[in-house]
Amino acid sequence: MQYDLLVVGSGLFGAVTAYQAKQQGLKVLVLEKREHLGGNVYCEDNDGIKVHKYGAHIFHTSNKDVWEFVNGFVEFNRFTNSPLALSKGKLYNLPFNMNTFAQIWGIQTPQQALDIIEEQRKTIKGDPQNLEQQAIALVGQDIYQLLIKEYTEKQWGRECKDLPAFIIKRLPLRFTFDNNYFNDIYQGIPVDGYNPLIEGLLDGIDIQLDTDFLADKEYYLSLAKEVVYTGPIDAYYDFCFGKLDYRSLKFETKRLERDNFQGNAVVNYIDKNVPFTRMIEHKHFALDTDTSHTVISEEYPLEWREGLERYYPVNDDKNMQLYKRYRQLNKQSENVHFGGRLAEYKYYDMDKVIASALHFSKRFL
Ligand code: FAD
Ligand code: UDP
Repeated sequence: MQYDLLVVGSGLFGAVTAYQAKQQGLKVLVLEKREHLGGNVYCEDNDGIKVHKYGAHIFHTSNKDVWEFVNGFVEFNRFTNSPLALSKGKLYNLPFNMNTFAQIWGIQTPQQALDIIEEQRKTIKGDPQNLEQQAIALVGQDIYQLLIKEYTEKQWGRECKDLPAFIIKRLPLRFTFDNNYFNDIYQGIPVDGYNPLIEGLLDGIDIQLDTDFLADKEYYLSLAKEVVYTGPIDAYYDFCFGKLDYRSLKFETKRLERDNFQGNAVVNYIDKNVPFTRMIEHKHFALDTDTSHTVISEEYPLEWREGLERYYPVNDDKNMQLYKRYRQLNKQSENVHFGGRLAEYKYYDMDKVIASALHFSKRFL
């Protein structure tokens, strides 16, 4: 065997695992299907603006170990995500907080907001069973109709009634005038983008870009004693039980010869008649980018089909049952380990992926 460990995929799960294994003296090979490293955190330079090629990536965590780990490779800025939502021609602050409540209801105090929400959530009795019930139980009918329903159905291509409740619980709800989209203790974006983080993790490790592991699976498996696979789990098993659903995205990125287009990094477009969900203005992630031009990306959601990238697992009951069947198969191949957003079919944020890879890598100690 030429290698102790073969890592399939150079996203955060693969890169962190490869790094940890190398630190323990293991000989590692990383295969990457794309022409670049980093998976979905990859950034492209546009005359001084770091463009998040696969959508806005804001690092946030309450895990001190993870924060210290990433800060060992790159410096982070103090970016705080405060997106705006455009609904029916009016801008609202996100996440759902006193600014939003004041904009919608013209009220001033937390008690006034609580009273309105309390009244509007009465229709939901017992534990919420789907995203619609969960949203109304959290913020009431008005906000559900104004800021959630159309965005969610556009994003997921499914009715809110058919989506799992946990998705909407990602968003904070608070009764203070605070537009921070995350509740985590640490937040920021690497000052030079995410590429130096991935390059630091994979420094000195053998890498093959433009290489699809599944195109010659048996050969690549024969190269190493153990394998970490971070691609889609159903594809690994040749879709033997059928295909898992994923949501994909199309990014329309444009360079504009003006210094500021929307005045904020992220603006959500709620209305269903606007075909994209978000508009990102990349320079605002950096806080100190002084350029006369700007770069914007519109994010169009669509159902995954062959030839597109998979971005979001659709964790409804049907797909979770299917995923579990694939997971059972994995128990039969002991030296192949599945990790990350696609292989675990999990709606993981970056910090959770890193935490999971660090935990997994303890086996190399
Ligand atoms: P990936 O980054 O998908 O990496 C998997 C890699 O494996 C890819 O490079 C792929 O090309 C490669 N691969 C797959 N199959 C093969 C094969 N057969 N052979 C070789 N290589 C293969 N998280 C946050 O914390 N904050 C955010 O703001 C945030 N924003 C996001 C916005 C969007 C639009 C999306 C889609 C995700 C966002 N995330 C965010 C989540 C974040 O992208 C993930 O948590 C993280 O990138 C997952 O890392 P990963 O290694 O599991 O997967
Ligand atoms: N969401 C919404 N309105 C918004 C923003 C988010 O209804 O303006 C819902 C939507 O269902 C989305 C979920 O909240 O899928 C999670 O949002 P988040 O911003 O965390 O999604 P991501 O950045 O992962 O796409």
